[in-house]
Parts: sequence; C-alpha cells; structure tokens
Amino acid sequence: MTEPTFATLVSRWYEENARDLPWRERGVSPWAILVSEVMLQQTPVVRVLPAWQAWLARWPDPAALAADTPAEAIRMWGRLGYPRRAVRLRECAVAIVERHGGQVPDRLDQLLALPGVGTYTARAVAAFAYGQRHPVVDTNVRRVVCRAVAGEPDAGPTTRPADLVAAEELLPVEPAAAALASAAFMELGAIVCTARAPRCGICPVESVCAWRASGQAAPTGPTRRPQRYAGTDRQVRGLLLGVLREAVSPVPRQRLDQVWSDDVQRSRALAGLVTDGLVEPVGEASYRLAGDGPPLPVG
Ligand code: SF4
Repeated sequence: MTEPTFATLVSRWYEENARDLPWRERGVSPWAILVSEVMLQQTPVVRVLPAWQAWLARWPDPAALAADTPAEAIRMWGRLGYPRRAVRLRECAVAIVERHGGQVPDRLDQLLALPGVGTYTARAVAAFAYGQRHPVVDTNVRRVVCRAVAGEPDAGPTTRPADLVAAEELLPVEPAAAALASAAFMELGAIVCTARAPRCGICPVESVCAWRASGQAAPTGPTRRPQRYAGTDRQVRGLLLGVLREAVSPVPRQRLDQVWSDDVQRSRALAGLVTDGLVEPVGEASYRLAGDGPPLPVG
C-alpha cells in the first residue's frame, strides 16, 4: 500500500478539525467567498465574521454593491481596517457587472483582471468557489510549505513565483481534491503550524516534516514585530474617517481639526485619504466620504 501523500494527510486532518466558518459552507456564492477573502487578508476571522454577514445581508450580489456609493461601502466596512479594500471591493463589483453580467468569473485571468484582486485572491476564489486546481498561497501556506518541505523555520515576507510552484507540487491532480488541499494547507498554518508556536505534537504531517526532522527547536519569539498603531498616520486616518462615516452632510475642516492636535500629521493623513479615493473635498473647506451625496460640480 502506498503512503498517503502530504496533501492527503493534511486534507484528512482538515475534514476532522477545520473551523466551522460560514464562508466554507456548501452553497455559499462565489461573491460571498470573494468578499470573505478580501476581508480576511488583513483582518482576523473573529472581526470579519459579523462584518461579512452584514455586508452580504446588504449587498448579496455584485450588482447590489455596484449600485451603491463608495461612501456606503466605506461606512459598512466600519473598523475592519485598511478601508481602501472597501472602495476596491466596490470597484470590483462594478467591473463584475460591466464585464461579466454580474457573475463572479471563474477564469483565473478574468479574476486577476478585476480591481483589487491579486494573485492570492484570484486563486482563492477559483479554488474555493469553483473547485479548480490552483496553488493558493498566503502567509500561512508559505510557512507550512517552507517548514515541512524545505526544512526552514519561516518563509519570506512576500509570495514569490517559487512559492506558488512549491505549493502546486503538493496538490493532488484532481481539481476538487486540490481545492480541498489548498484550504487544508491554509488552515494548518492558521491553527497548528503557527509562526510563534507550532504545535508539532498534533500536526498531521509531523512524521514527514523536514523542519521537524531536522531537530531544530521551535521558534520562541515573534518572527515579525506587531505593527504599531498608536500615534501613526493609520490611527489619524481612522479618527478622521470615524467622523466622516457618522456625518450626514459635508464636515467642515475645523471639525476634523479636532480629532488630532498635530497639524502636520493630521493634514498628511487627510491628504492621504483623498489620494486613496476614500474622502473628497467639498468646496473650499469641507470634506465627505467619496461619492457621499449629490455629484460634485466638475472643474
Ligand atoms: S510538524 Fe511542526 S513545523 Fe512541521 S508542519 Fe507540522 S506544525 Fe509545522
């Protein structure tokens, strides 16, 4: 009898141990999966869960979101962080309506051509929504493959073409099994082969893991410093957006000036929000969320 493959071991473990997450349920639409992937990229699962449900209750398909304003997308995004994702997700919905009749495309090249959809998201949607065989490589998968196959303690900060090749080599040939394995690799990296404290004792691939076999000690500290938030431009942007999200009419600059005392930093943060398409000036001295209200005069 042949030994089970790496993918088989991880997939079996996944079927027994995967977290019960609503975007993994049968019958979830490709749009709902796309939304979950965008939200999950920089936000923990526990914060994404209520936001994902609320988003889909309001905009159950791309056409619904495309018909609404960027401002409403930013409002609904709430405090998930990195709110440019909300604007890009709406742009993506508009493109899906215009190019694909409102249906999330299933071809990888068409997914990759959508606004805000990168290498990871396109492959995640193709695999998890359409059951296709593509390597789906995020930080967690890179770490699992790096440790188990290459025997290195951690992967680099960004996905390289070689990472896609390494992950693809582990996938079963059959598309549905490959899609399952992709989800399983991600889950293993998220809850067992974690950056700081891999739980090798309960890992389904402990017996074949190159890093474990090397006898190296588990990492003892964070591989990356947690990002500072207090005092950063991100915090100031969040405060400014918080005021604008609550407003029902353009907000005078003097009101925004109250959120942060450092003039230089506050002005820089506000200018960044305008550049990023999240906020727009109204007249000489007021601001609003992008597209919030009647169109601005041109020129
Ligand atoms: S045995 Fe340990 S290091 Fe290897 S894949 Fe499993 S958790 Fe990660």
